Amino acid sequence: MPTPPPAAVRALRPPKPTHDPWLPQGVTVELERGPGGESIPSATVFLTGAECPFTCVFCDLWRYTIDGPTPAGALPAQLRAALERLPGLLREAGLDRCDQLKLYNASNFFDRRAVPEADLEPIARLAAGFRRVVVECHPRLVDDRVRRFAELLRGRLEVAMGLETAHPEALSRLGKQMTLEQFDRAAERLRADGVDLRVFVLVGVPFVPADEQAKWVAESVRHAARVGARSVALIPVRGGNGELERLAGLGLFEPPDLALLEECLAGGLRAAEASLAVQVDPWDLDQVAAGCDACRDARVAAIREMNRTGKPRLTVCGDCRG
Ligand code: SF4
Ligand SMILES: [Zn+2]
Repeated sequence: MPTPPPAAVRALRPPKPTHDPWLPQGVTVELERGPGGESIPSATVFLTGAECPFTCVFCDLWRYTIDGPTPAGALPAQLRAALERLPGLLREAGLDRCDQLKLYNASNFFDRRAVPEADLEPIARLAAGFRRVVVECHPRLVDDRVRRFAELLRGRLEVAMGLETAHPEALSRLGKQMTLEQFDRAAERLRADGVDLRVFVLVGVPFVPADEQAKWVAESVRHAARVGARSVALIPVRGGNGELERLAGLGLFEPPDLALLEECLAGGLRAAEASLAVQVDPWDLDQVAAGCDACRDARVAAIREMNRTGKPRLTVCGDCRG
């Protein structure tokens, strides 16, 4: 069954919420484990801007974007507003400093439509107080702009790219319009430019049977390690875009639950062999189905603990699977 064209995937979506391009979606702070086991005080700013052109079948990031290009000046204004809130958020979290700034724009940082050229310098200036700045980008959009932005920053640049899965056939059906070779070439380019790499890997990837999910997450983590990633973030696939519900009806997608996420995180940590940090971004655990009410809290606690310690552990539950 061929991958439907982007227009068909978009046609199944519910209406897109409207957003003010001059306001960020939100700011969070957390402690993130680095590849050496160190705790890194981090802030994530969720920016509002232009939608990504790729239209992957599993994507829900379009909900946080606007129609049309990001207006020039909007992203620096959003970042300024977010940074004003940071001291209060750090105080609430009991943190006395913030070393890492993640600028996630629900699209591609190096797409000129999403991040206007003229905004790179003001963004870099606003980010001058951070030792590390992380932005997200599709591998096919990794070009000269990455190095230029890295040179503008006072801290070190890290680019987060979605590998999604190392399963070649599933990857080719996701609508990502990328092969493993293209991913590897972009990773090589980042390395040559002295830019660090973070990799997004899906849990609950469509077209991979449920009982093979953990195996392919582990293989994806090994792939990320081979191309020099510093860390891997596991992303549970969230339904609701219409296309995933269509695929679920065909038996090609099953929403991941907490038990699978926990199993994949433990397996990913084992596969990493302490060569890179593997974790689940903590901010949307609430949206992942429990599978079983009896063990929801225990599984969330296990995932948070594995994020913190990097040590695999699994919850035992008599009411659902092991
Ligand atoms: S490349 Fe990323 S932002 Fe773009 S459609 Fe795919 S998942 Fe969404
Ligand atoms: Zn249970």
